[in-house]
Amino acid sequence: MQEIYFLPWKEKEKVSLLLKDSGMLDTIKRGDWVGLKIHFGEKGNKHFIPPTLVKIIGDAIKDIGAKPFLIDTNVLYKGGRGNTYSHLQIVREHGFSDLGIPAVIAGGIKESLTREAKIKVNLKHFNEVYIVEDFLAFDFLLVLTHFKGHMMSSFGGSIKNVGMGCASRRGKFLMHSSIIPRVNQGKCTGCGRCVQNCPGEAMHLERKKVKISPEKCIGCGECVHVCPVDAISIPWDSVKPEEFQERIVEYAYGVQKEKKGKIGFINFLCAISPDCDCIQRPKSPLVPDLGILIGWDMVGIDQASLDMVTRAKGFRLPAGINKFYRVRPDIPPERQLEYGAEINLGKREYRIISCETP
Ligand code: SF4
Ligand code: SF4
Repeated sequence: MQEIYFLPWKEKEKVSLLLKDSGMLDTIKRGDWVGLKIHFGEKGNKHFIPPTLVKIIGDAIKDIGAKPFLIDTNVLYKGGRGNTYSHLQIVREHGFSDLGIPAVIAGGIKESLTREAKIKVNLKHFNEVYIVEDFLAFDFLLVLTHFKGHMMSSFGGSIKNVGMGCASRRGKFLMHSSIIPRVNQGKCTGCGRCVQNCPGEAMHLERKKVKISPEKCIGCGECVHVCPVDAISIPWDSVKPEEFQERIVEYAYGVQKEKKGKIGFINFLCAISPDCDCIQRPKSPLVPDLGILIGWDMVGIDQASLDMVTRAKGFRLPAGINKFYRVRPDIPPERQLEYGAEINLGKREYRIISCETP
């Protein structure tokens, strides 16, 4: 049975001991380039992983002579993290640029130029998945995840951080939507900017209004970003929550397939709001800060995290209740774990090794 290492939140500054005890530091070698996959938090959000803890992890990696990088992708929707320029401003505002660890936005300056790897998975929803190549270039990928709720997947843990967070914009779009972008013809001014930027050459203007040819659309989501008047949107409702979770799991499977033994996971169980860090003003936490988990299996570590939140006595809900399910009863919270086990992304059984120090 897999072992998952646990440090209580009151001991959080000893996170480097957790890294050592778990054996994760032993797999990283002098000279390795180590990607620390992180979510820097949307502008205004305060629930992201504390930079002080990220620095401790980065320093532990530097101590063995390896080179850590903080890395995330731009998001699909418009917002502070929607392009590299404003995303890097958030990195600075949230205190991640003073840690002595370079921060990079995967895919570079312009999303339309992003190099993506097409990885064969041959699963239920996707035959192949699209991952930003930068993640595959690292010698080791350490996934730092703030565990919390999510409005479409019930909760967001390591599986979501990898599946959605390492995907290219095209991949993100394909997970969120099963149909082409929606155009609000009333808003469209006919400026043609989307037509010029559409890599599928799927857009054209008719009487100063844009039209999309569905057979040419590659689902990259670029048009959503370039439209200056928000006339193009993602049809979020075209994928049901269960299916959305399964799609994320398939993307996570693609990353894991490529990284094989060169990927590890740390879940931070703090500021566990029902809302994700993409929200500017998320709801207050459901439970007190619990601790930090580290493991080698993203299904196992997410299962352990969910179980801990369920067992904890909440601020508004009692111990023993699946709090994410109570908040969003229309979203089955365990589908991502069930499906992850079904396709052998990982196992749900685990044993906790407590690293509490005297
Ligand atoms: S999603 Fe991409 S390919 Fe499809 S219409 Fe928009 S820009 Fe063009
Ligand atoms: S970028 Fe927006 S406003 Fe301009 S043509 Fe496309 S949909 Fe219309």
